[in-house]
Amino acid sequence: MATSLTFLGAAGTVTGSKHLLDLDDRRILIDCGLFQGLKELRQRNWAALPFDAARIDAVVLTHAHLDHCGYLPRLVGQGFRGRIFCTPGTYDLCTLVLPDSARIQEEDARQANKHHYSKHAHAEPLYTEIEAARAITQLQPVGYDRPVPVVPGVPGIEVEFINAGHLLGSAYARVRVSDRTILFGGDLGRYGRPVLPDPTTVTEADVLLLESTYGDRLHERDDDGEQLAGIVTDVAARGGRLIIPSFAIGRVEEVLYWLKRLEDQDRIPVLPVYVDSPMALGALEFYTSRISELDEELQTGTRDVRAFVTTRMVTVASVEQSKALMASREPAIVIASSGMATGGRVLHHLAVALPEPRNTVLFVGFQAEGTRGRLLCDGARQVKIHGQFVPVAARIERIDSMSAHADAGEIMRWLSGFVRPPAMTYLVHGEASALEALAGRIAAERQWPVHVAKYLERVELNLSYPRRSG
Ligand SMILES: [Zn+2]
Repeated sequence: MATSLTFLGAAGTVTGSKHLLDLDDRRILIDCGLFQGLKELRQRNWAALPFDAARIDAVVLTHAHLDHCGYLPRLVGQGFRGRIFCTPGTYDLCTLVLPDSARIQEEDARQANKHHYSKHAHAEPLYTEIEAARAITQLQPVGYDRPVPVVPGVPGIEVEFINAGHLLGSAYARVRVSDRTILFGGDLGRYGRPVLPDPTTVTEADVLLLESTYGDRLHERDDDGEQLAGIVTDVAARGGRLIIPSFAIGRVEEVLYWLKRLEDQDRIPVLPVYVDSPMALGALEFYTSRISELDEELQTGTRDVRAFVTTRMVTVASVEQSKALMASREPAIVIASSGMATGGRVLHHLAVALPEPRNTVLFVGFQAEGTRGRLLCDGARQVKIHGQFVPVAARIERIDSMSAHADAGEIMRWLSGFVRPPAMTYLVHGEASALEALAGRIAAERQWPVHVAKYLERVELNLSYPRRSG
């Protein structure tokens, strides 16, 4: 009986992860992410689903980044009522990111209506806080390394989460159908980095879905924070501000870890560090409470949980505090989301900071095509924020070594753990050049069958699977 997989997102691009597994009359959606970046991609969030949301039996989430979970409230809004399987860490982070995303959707719609910069007569949010809250009630946390049945009444279909080292709670989802396995790689973490553990070695899978974000690149060699130290010292000497757009979950912890470490080593001046993101503060608490899932270094006591607290750290809770911070000209480091400057409080900070040459904006994560972050990294002289053009005089810096994604070398290292090749490896979650480069490397170095997934492509998997019992 045919089993098929349809790539509904993160195919030829890095956002919108959604893979539909059809097992005859059973349907499981692995990841349920938002498209972000280019307008033509974002418009896909509004497109009708090519399936009936109410007929999905279960959703499986690899991790809590929005490009993997941010479409859930929309799916629920369209009638999905099943369970959403994820790790406890992913559950925790989803309770932060889904309502926050809904607030941003609602606020964007409000702003568009207020300033009339929507092309539509009346802008509607993609989803609401009510739908996000409902999605959270459908989450079903399951610990790592514990296979569980995902379809009621069908015992032969199981999912198991394996730590991917990419974010708190991040996992590969190993879906077992009878005696065959499909490994949904989610996002792959990195080796030998602080905060998060190395990606777990996997030795086999019949079918593999592999992310390719950095499939054509190697990260800069680990420089023990040298580049960050230089950037902080430089902006302090100019009496300016360092604005760090950051994913509120994941990157903030690593940025704070490095700032704290550089302060401890007297390698940077001690500046006030403002964490202007209520969600980031919530995530810091979850990281602290799940320290046993993090890098061993944090557990052995050599660097305890204070690793995430710098000397003069100030947490900004209210919008009023955030506004006061923007109005102040005091030299400082400001960490705010979103990481690709597509929304969130960081936009207000950028609108104030970008026109002044004494300031620096530092990007620490992947910047997708079409985002303000990518435009700034590519040298844009002005960017549009909230309908206004803002000139860019501030210095723009980026540090790729803080990326949470494996680079090409690390992906190949992870693949070397396989003792038998998958019957097929599908490459997802990458832009065209990265996908092509990684496909070439896998074919040349490992001689594995490899296929670059295309948007809306459906492939047959030829796995046997159990019939519904009873
Ligand atoms: Zn991710």
